[in-house]
Amino acid sequence: MLRTPASGLINRGGTSDETIFGADGRGTPFEERVDRAVTAWTGSGRGQDRLASGAAFFALHLWWLDARHHDRADDDLTRAYVDACYAAIGGPRGWDALLRTRVRCRCHGVTWRTENITICLGCLRYQCPDTDGRTCTACSGRLVG
Ligand SMILES: [Zn+2]
Ligand SMILES: [Zn+2]
Repeated sequence: MLRTPASGLINRGGTSDETIFGADGRGTPFEERVDRAVTAWTGSGRGQDRLASGAAFFALHLWWLDARHHDRADDDLTRAYVDACYAAIGGPRGWDALLRTRVRCRCHGVTWRTENITICLGCLRYQCPDTDGRTCTACSGRLVG
């Protein structure tokens, strides 16, 4: 089930990754992109190929944790979707492996463990955690992580 750490942050190219990541998705609020992904997932009979993986899942999970922290994570269907994605990447062990994967920031080309880096909910670029404020330098999107 669990992929090698090196490929752990490369999205599988499934429909859901395209919905969250895709060119059509940029500029659309992250919440709406998640709604689309959840709708596509339920519409497909909860197909495994509609689950987010890689960086798309990383952003999704951080967004979800942030929403939960602010008591905004109350949608059962979204919760089921995030849980299914989480299980598909290997559960706690998969998430742990993902956090220990090293990725390069798009601002300076510096390598970080994903547990120390931030990701933009707008353009899905990894960025240094010391970026000024919590706004993406490339698209002004919100940074999580
Ligand atoms: Zn950087
Ligand atoms: Zn951005």
